[in-house]
Amino acid sequence: MKDCIFCRIVKKEVPAEIEMETETLVAFRDINPKAPVHILIIPKKHIENLANASKEDLEILGDCQLAAKEVAKKNGIEKAFRLLTVSGAGAGQTVLHLHYHLVGGWKDGIPGMEIWREE
Ligand code: AMP
Ligand code: ZN
Repeated sequence: MKDCIFCRIVKKEVPAEIEMETETLVAFRDINPKAPVHILIIPKKHIENLANASKEDLEILGDCQLAAKEVAKKNGIEKAFRLLTVSGAGAGQTVLHLHYHLVGGWKDGIPGMEIWREE
């Protein structure tokens, strides 16, 4: 996908703070973090969102979840993290390339889900 910002990160046409890269995925820091640790995990394959994933993507989806565990560990949040994907513009998806938000690192208690869209 030529104009997809995340595909461009995969192709290294756009810079990103990469935390992990494998054959199937890239993990990089969110440019506008909503938690002390906020990393995006994306498949290299352009899949618009979870609603557009299919059985042939099962391995990739599994890879993303297991990568979240590894990246959480690398960032010292393996005991307390959230992994969230937003599917569809109506749910607030702004980048139409499947991504998982790995968030954590809160020091003062556990935030509610409102951290998600609070500006
Ligand atoms: P969503 O609203 O769930 O689609 O999330 C998109 C996320 O991508 C937001 O948290 C943005 O801050 C993040 N984002 C957008 N462009 C970039 C970029 N070039 N590098 C890193 N993160 C980005
Ligand atoms: Zn893409």
